[in-house]
Amino acid sequence: MVKNWVRPAKTIEIREYAMRIRRLLGYKDTDFIYAPKLYDDLSKVLSDQGLNFDYIVMPDEDEIFENNEEAFTDMRTGTIYIKESVMEKACRRSFNRASFTLVHELGHYFLHYIQEDARLTMVSEEVQVQIYCDPEWQANIFASEFLMPFEICKDLVPIEIRKQYHVSTQASEVRHNKIKKELEK
Ligand SMILES: [Zn+2]
Repeated sequence: MVKNWVRPAKTIEIREYAMRIRRLLGYKDTDFIYAPKLYDDLSKVLSDQGLNFDYIVMPDEDEIFENNEEAFTDMRTGTIYIKESVMEKACRRSFNRASFTLVHELGHYFLHYIQEDARLTMVSEEVQVQIYCDPEWQANIFASEFLMPFEICKDLVPIEIRKQYHVSTQASEVRHNKIKKELEK
């Protein structure tokens, strides 16, 4: 088995990058992200800049998806493939993990597709790489930072984070705990 790893990125770097994109798109730090609209906005903004940003919603049973995969980003083209059921959930504006999944894929797009110097390298699974070189870890941090801005969330408890940013209970708890740990350092 092989896995990908990427140029290391610290939480703080991913945070600054996520917040820059958020603010460029005109979101206030207190705004919640409605992921389907975010995708539409990005399609316009990025294609105006000559960047390739496409997303395709596919039937859940399509063989393009691996087992348990909700969405994935093709690193050669930047195209994001999303399961139909995941896009439907994201559109319902309910407090589920679908929006996290969509923004996680944007993390791959911005951190691993757009930034050419963050080239993906394949390593054997036996090779120990630092967690911050793991593209999945980086994309999760991106989603968390983008959906739930640090400066606001550091003063909120999980239920407030959940209400403010329409995220799942689990996402709000993970966010709260990570911020607490970071502030204790
Ligand atoms: Zn991923």
